[in-house]
Parts: sequence; C-alpha cells; structure tokens
Amino acid sequence: MPRQTINPYTNEVLKTFEDATDQQIETALATADNLYRKMKPQAISDRTETLHKIAQGIRDHAQELAEIATREMGKLIAESKGEVELCAIIADYFADHAEAMLQPTTLQSQVTGEAKVYRHATGVILAVEPWNFPYYQIMRVFAPNFMVGNPMILRDAANIPWSAQAFADVVLESGAPKGALTNVFMSYDQVADMIADPRIQGVALTGSERGGSSVAEEAGKNLKKSTLELGGQDVFIVLDDANMADVNEIAWRSRLYNAGQVCTSSKRFIVMDSVYDEFLDNLKQNFAAVKPGDPMDSATTLAPMNTKKAKEKLQKQVDEAIEAGATVAYGNESYDLEGQFFMPTILTDIDADNPARHTEMFGPVAQVYKVHSEAEAIELANDSQYGLGGIVFSGDSAHGEQVATQIETGMVFVNNFMASLPELPFGGVKNSGYGRELSELGLMAFVNEQLVVTADKPDFDNMAGGLVSTD
Ligand code: NAP
Repeated sequence: MPRQTINPYTNEVLKTFEDATDQQIETALATADNLYRKMKPQAISDRTETLHKIAQGIRDHAQELAEIATREMGKLIAESKGEVELCAIIADYFADHAEAMLQPTTLQSQVTGEAKVYRHATGVILAVEPWNFPYYQIMRVFAPNFMVGNPMILRDAANIPWSAQAFADVVLESGAPKGALTNVFMSYDQVADMIADPRIQGVALTGSERGGSSVAEEAGKNLKKSTLELGGQDVFIVLDDANMADVNEIAWRSRLYNAGQVCTSSKRFIVMDSVYDEFLDNLKQNFAAVKPGDPMDSATTLAPMNTKKAKEKLQKQVDEAIEAGATVAYGNESYDLEGQFFMPTILTDIDADNPARHTEMFGPVAQVYKVHSEAEAIELANDSQYGLGGIVFSGDSAHGEQVATQIETGMVFVNNFMASLPELPFGGVKNSGYGRELSELGLMAFVNEQLVVTADKPDFDNMAGGLVSTD
C-alpha cells in the first residue's frame, strides 16, 4: 500500500510514496554492503569530516526539515527546529569523539603476550524507527554507525515517509557516500526478509512492545544482534521537600511536550500527600492554559496528535480507565477543531486493578497518584512492566539521587526535565527494551569487539587448563 503523508492539523493528504520493489530492496542492500567493504580498510578519521558536513547540511536545511516534520506528524514548529538542531549536535559529537572511543585497548591479563580489544565494523545495520521524532530517531543510529563503518538501511514508520526521505536526501547531499543511509519503504514481510539476509548484521528498533517483539523474533531466528528502544510509563516523583515552583514549571511540560507522544514523557505523577493538592491544582491550571492550534504558528502550545488512529486509541484507553473507576480531574472533552487534538487530561484514583495502571498512554494524559511515604512512591514507581526513564524532585538533591537509584529504569533525572544528548546513554530495562543508543555504549552496539592476543612465542610453562604437561 502506498504510504501517505496526512497533515494531522488539516487532515489533508499532502503526498504519497510508493512501496519499494524487491529489486529496489536488493539494490539498497547491495549498495550498502559494497560500501561496508569499501569503508572497512579506511581509517575512522576518514569519515570525521563527512559527518561534520552532514551536521552542517542538516543545519543548512533546518527550516525545510522542521516544516516537513510539523506538517507530516503535527509537532510544534519550535519543537521540530529543536529536533533538527539536536541531530546536528549528535552528528558533530560522534564526528569528534568516535575515533578515540574506537581505539584498541590493552587488557591487564595473565595471558602470555599482549591482549588487546580491537573495535571493528560488522556490516549493514537495519534501523526500524517510529514517527514521534522523525529525524532524531534516525540520527541516534546513523551517526555512531557511520563512524564505526556500518552502513544503515532505514525502515521508518508508515506515516512519516516525507520526513524519512527528506532526511536521507539531506544526508546524501551533504556528502555521505551512497549506501551510508538508505531509506527504503518496506512492508513488514520485506523487513523480515531483510533481517534474514546475510548482509544484515544487526537491527535496531525503536517503537512499541508489539513491533519490538516481532522484529526481535526475526532477529533471534536469524541470530542477528538487536537493540530495542520501546515504550515507557515513566514516573515523576514529587517528594514532600521538593521545590514546588520548579515542579509546577516542569511537570506539565514533561507530559505535554510533543503532544505527550514521547517514550520518556512523564506518564505517572507520584506525589507525596503533603504537596498533592498544590501539585494537582497547578497541573490543572497549566493544562488549562495550553493553546491548541496550527503547529506552524509559534503561538500554539498544544500540537495535534500524529494520526486519527493514535487519538482514537488514546480515547479508548481513557474511557476504559474511567470505566474501571478512575476520576477525571481535568480534561477529557473535545475541542471544536478539525485536527487530531486531544485535550490534556488528568486521571486520579487509579486503583491497582485499573488497566490504566499498566498501560502506556501515548498522548497528553497524566495519571496522578497520591502516596504517603517515600517507600510507597518507590514501590509504585517500580510496579510497572516498563523501565525506561523517570524524574525525581527533592529539596535535597543528594537524597533525590538515592531515590533515583532505587527506580528500576535505564535513566533518571533529579530536579530537572529529562534530556537526551549524544554523550548520555539512552535506553531502558524490562519491557522498555535492551541495549543503549547514543554515548559510548550506543557507539559499540554493532561493533565487533575483537580480542587479539599477541605473543612472541608460546610459553609452555604457563599453558592454561593442563593441556600441555611440562613434567
Ligand atoms: P510501532 O508500532 O512499534 O512502530 C515502530 C516502527 O516499527 C514503525 O516503523 C513500524 O512500522 C515498525 N513495525 C511495527 N511492527 C513491525 C513488524 N512486525 N515488522 C516490521 N516493522 C514493524 O510503534 P509506535 O506505536 O508507532 O511508536 C510509539 C512507541 O514507540 C511507543 O511505545 C513509544 O514509547 C516508543 N518509543 C520508544 C522510544 C525509546 O527510545 N525507547 C523512543 C520513541 C518511541 P509501521 O509504522 O509501518 O507500523
């Protein structure tokens, strides 16, 4: 089925894109594999300048790329611009730091000779990416793997073909060699076939548990390495000594940024009883103050959701939560607007048996829980199948840090908004996936960490395991 760009603010079909033929897929694979072989003998530093040029190319096309993302998936234009700049920052970071991180390291060992770990490219990587950050998701995998020497084939979400193609075009036009990043409009079956192809050496997926387990199953069947960046039900814990002015400023933003469609959005607010009423009043006021409208207009503060289907799914989840006993503390009404807007909504009184308790609500809906002790807050935070991120607000940041370390997630920020930067590892535990993107950990995701032990001659006196007797 051809992919369509549907503007979620106007519901207009802006563009259509044909699916790739099997021949186009074969060409993409062959080109990427040839590039892998060509890059293999090159020095890593040979790619530094190209990646800086890609960063510059992205900056040169910032306005155009931002407008495409906003028109295609609805995010506020200022947020689109921020995302484009973050892509350039990520590219610059890996251009500057990857070479040093990929140097061979010498191990302290009892072995005869010198033990070193070399870090080599492994081959073509497939990246299956979601729509919520149309460019950043691509760059998280592309930049590190480009420096490693692993070409990347991109299979992006069905509703953002325009962004995917525009980004791949800018990367290529900025000087990337052909095959370094190839966008291919593939069906699920074609993705499975590609994973099975011996030229593919790994697959990175960001998306839902459903998508993640399907793709990981194919990877497992074919013995391919995979990384999964999946959903979350991140907490925002407010301890009783928290600076409430800061909390009130950050809480609504951490839920409504990108219309609430962020894996690390704060989805569960866990608030100590002493500050609960103040917190809830402020959250209501801040939710009520947002201005839905044209996401291209800088005065708009609430974007539409990315598709009609996403909005309907969220409404169903909210309806089910209410039916199971949740209270609507704010919102859950309709706006008189054509676009896919969802009124920011606050749910409270979510009991342990309410399905909302274990549901990722991927839109502007906040679940707020009252707790009576810090231990209860931590227990509730960890009562989730997910383990992605989280935020803790405490008047004592050292104490906040102690609480943070007890939360079973991959990332926690104390007394601040969550941020994603190239030097910080990004990823989760439990059903939020495995592996990390960005940072040195992300750079190594699809690297062959090859052990080479070099001796001048065998040491027969110290052969391990008794295989050689010197008696
Ligand atoms: P999704 O349905 O899993 O889609 C993600 C990507 O996987 C899309 O390209 C999708 O293609 C593809 N896909 C899904 N099933 C597939 C299959 N069986 N074979 C091949 N490809 C498949 O996820 P979503 O609902 O659009 O995205 C939102 C989810 O992503 C949320 O749960 C969010 O928390 C998570 N997320 C996580 C992170 C992170 O870093 N941890 C970041 C952003 C988002 P189609 O579009 O064609 O279905």
